[in-house]
Formats: sequence, structure tokens, C-alpha cells
Amino acid sequence: MLTRESVIEKAMALGFADVGICDASPFDEHRMILEERRNYYDWAYKLGIDLSTGTDPSTILEGAKSIIVVLGHYFDRGFPREMENHFGRCYLDDDRLTKDGLSRKIKAFRSFLRDAGIQTKIPFHLPHRVAAARAGLGTFGKNCLFYADRAVAGGSWTLPIAVIVDAPFEQDTPTISVGCPDWCRNACIAACPTGALKGPQKIDPRRCISYLTYFGEGITPEDLREPMGLWVYGCDHCQNVCPRNRAWLARSGSLPVNEKVAAMAPSFSLPALLHMDVAYYEAHIQPHMFYMPSSDIWRWRMNAARAMGNSLDGAYVPELEKAMVGDGDERVRQMSAWALGRIGGRDAKKALEKHLAESTGALRNEIETALSKNNRHF
Ligand code: SF4
Ligand code: SF4
Repeated sequence: MLTRESVIEKAMALGFADVGICDASPFDEHRMILEERRNYYDWAYKLGIDLSTGTDPSTILEGAKSIIVVLGHYFDRGFPREMENHFGRCYLDDDRLTKDGLSRKIKAFRSFLRDAGIQTKIPFHLPHRVAAARAGLGTFGKNCLFYADRAVAGGSWTLPIAVIVDAPFEQDTPTISVGCPDWCRNACIAACPTGALKGPQKIDPRRCISYLTYFGEGITPEDLREPMGLWVYGCDHCQNVCPRNRAWLARSGSLPVNEKVAAMAPSFSLPALLHMDVAYYEAHIQPHMFYMPSSDIWRWRMNAARAMGNSLDGAYVPELEKAMVGDGDERVRQMSAWALGRIGGRDAKKALEKHLAESTGALRNEIETALSKNNRHF
């Protein structure tokens, strides 16, 4: 039989940032919160993800006795700045499809347990962050994220992975609480550009930029386009402004570069994303960021157009004009027109005026709005 010490030693030897152990009783409080806020999560149920079934480990693994929570550390190397500007860091080296990083560690850890006769399950819909706090690994931020006590200088840059096992182990003391300092005046809530943070530990995921970038329906409503800023997939804004993350962010400039992500960067440039087709998406993007099916790549292109507009960079005008005229999807054409209006300046105005007469319907409306007298950028 494995001892608690040998489990911890193995997890740390594999390179996890920390490890803790808790019991496998149901997460009743979390289930109640999900029920109370059911309307926030309708989208998940529509996608076939029943979050409430993940709150009882015994329904996932027969004879569940403990949960071993290991922390994956996705920010142990530095990312190119142009990638951090547009993509949430936790997605940059997501190897759930490529299986060349964290997945290998998880596999090796499970093999280690299995070789000792212990059954394991890692359900995606278990409340992994709550399990991490129950296992004594850290506390919550008011932004709903999990902050590690003993890793990443106390920051939020870890991925808790909860491994349900059918063996009993001595448990850690839970740390389920909000760990924000009194002097922080809710910087995350104030800074959330789309008002997704409704209060301490209360997020409306439907307003969160992360959700909007990969699940948002239809063209992004006008009132959200500017607040969504430069984000194309995910959003780190409430983590970037958080004082609990300052210490690690201060170190990030001297971290070794994540070479894999640096090599990916040219494929993820905004012009490449704006003009990509399905073949390009499946070859270069989807292996790393896969929440959208190939049939939804119009959303990727629309996000790229919106980010270009919010960059206020006139160098993107020819790319946006090309997309406004030639993209096969009306939503991308419309967003490209909006982006030209957002960038403003003589070249953007010329591009919009040139195509006004030949345009009809919603695209024409976008062009007219962009060219309207209210647009102070012209
Ligand atoms: S990730 Fe971005 S949009 Fe979502 S809550 Fe944080 S700041 Fe708001
Ligand atoms: S910004 Fe302030 S309130 Fe928000 S998670 Fe960080 S410390 Fe807590």
C-alpha cells in the first residue's frame, strides 16, 4: 500500500507545483451554488455538460475514498508578449490534444497509482478548484480563481487536477476561504471590462470575455466590442490586475522562454487568424485551442477583426478591408467594418467609403455607423 508521503514525493518528482489530499465526500455547497445560479450555466447544460453530476465523486468512481489534487503549473516559462496580449495564458500551452506536456505527467502519476492497485478517475466536471482548497492547497480570490499557497509565489497561475482514488489517505487541512488582503479594494471586480464579476466570488460566465470569445452566439454586440479589447481567446485581465499575482508577474521577465509557444506565435498572428480557412485552423490552431469546432471558425476570424480594431493600429487597414469585402461570413465582414471605424484615420475612411455603395443590409449599416459623424476617429 502506498503511503501519503510516497504519493506526495512522486507528484513532486514528476514536476507538479504542489499536491494535497482531501476526502471524497460530495461537494454539496458547490452543488447548491450551481443550482442557485442555474441560469448562469444554461449554456453548459445545452452543450451536454451536466455540472451538478460532477459534485459527487462516488458517482464517478465506485468506492471513491480520497481525492489527490496536483497543481499543474502552466506559467513556469515565459510567453511571447504578442501571445499574452491576445490569449489567456492557461490556453497557450494546453496539451490536452497534443499530449506532450502536462498530460504526460498526469499519465505517469496515474500509472504510479495504478501499479499500486489504486483506481483513479479525473472527471472534467468535478469542481477542481474547490477540491484544491479542500485539499489545503490554497484559497480563492474574489475573482473566483484559485490562488496557490505554496507555488507560483502565491498566484493564480496553476491548474488544479483532482484525481479521485479508491484508497484512503491521511488528509490535509482544508483552506476553503477567500484569501484576498483587506487592503485590496476589489481591483478585479472594478477592472473586469464586461461586468462579468458581479461581486466577490460571483461571476456571470455569460458576460466573461473567455466565454464570449469561444462560445458567444452571433456577432458580438456593439456594447461589448470595445470592452473585449485585444482578447481573441480567453482573458487574463482580472489576474493581471490582481496584487496577489504581482510577485510572480515581476519574475516572469526572467523565466526561461516557453519555446513551444514561441514557435507557435507566427501561426497565431492576427492577420493569419483573420484570413484562416478550415485547413489552416485544423493544422495550426485547433491542436492547441480547440473549444470551437471547425464549423465555428468564423468566430475566430471575427475575434481577430475586433482585436485588430481595438489595437488602433493602422497597419491592419488593408487586412480588414480585404476581410470586409471578401470574407465568406457576414459576421466577419461586419466586424471588419466596425474595426476599420474603430481604427479610424484617412486610410480606414477611404476603405469604408470605397465599399459603401456596393454594400447592402447589415454590412451597409456597419459601414454607415463607422462613417457617421459620431465617429470621432475620422
Ligand atoms: S476573465 Fe476577463 S472578462 Fe472574465 S471575469 Fe476576468 S476580467 Fe472579467
Ligand atoms: S484583485 Fe484584489 S479582490 Fe480581486 S482577487 Fe486579487 S486580491 Fe482579491
